[in-house]
Amino acid sequence: MHETGTPDPDTPADLCAWAKTYASTVDIDVDLDRVDWEVSKRAKRRAGACRYQPGDETCTIVLTWQAYRAFGWRQFTDTIRHELVHAWEFQQFGESGHGARFRQKAAELDAPRHCETFSEPRYVLRCSASDCDWRAARHRASNPVKQPADGYRCGVCQSRYVVEHVDSGETWRTEKGYQQARAELGDDW
Ligand SMILES: [Zn+2]
Ligand SMILES: [Zn+2]
Repeated sequence: MHETGTPDPDTPADLCAWAKTYASTVDIDVDLDRVDWEVSKRAKRRAGACRYQPGDETCTIVLTWQAYRAFGWRQFTDTIRHELVHAWEFQQFGESGHGARFRQKAAELDAPRHCETFSEPRYVLRCSASDCDWRAARHRASNPVKQPADGYRCGVCQSRYVVEHVDSGETWRTEKGYQQARAELGDDW
């Protein structure tokens, strides 16, 4: 299944595709034909969610893009297993929570008992193309944060991107801009 090594999805569509593939390898009795997958770029704090439509008995698992960017694939699979336990409860019992039944199933899958939260990243990279909504979260001042003009590009359309220091809203496109922002903010960095 993972013959190409660790998945590294870099677009929401990729993340959906990998999540679906991964879900089919998880040992849980969920009818995946009745599960839809979505990626949210707006959700804050919650890493994922599972919604149930009782009318047609389908579930929608919503994965939070920023959480995936913050966790990386390996840790994000914990979130996928957690949401699959919700889907399992919905399909089997028509309801889901974080009660004893949930906890037992989650333990079987070594999935977290609570809906996982994630912290806002320190930096966000944002594509500068007006018709592209690519964003990437960064917690550390890595080279793509400090030297955005040094050959780094949007992960979708290959345009240049802008780096934003989330707390202050300061933005830059070059290493010089990074150093200026850093100097201006001083202790507020
Ligand atoms: Zn949950
Ligand atoms: Zn772009």
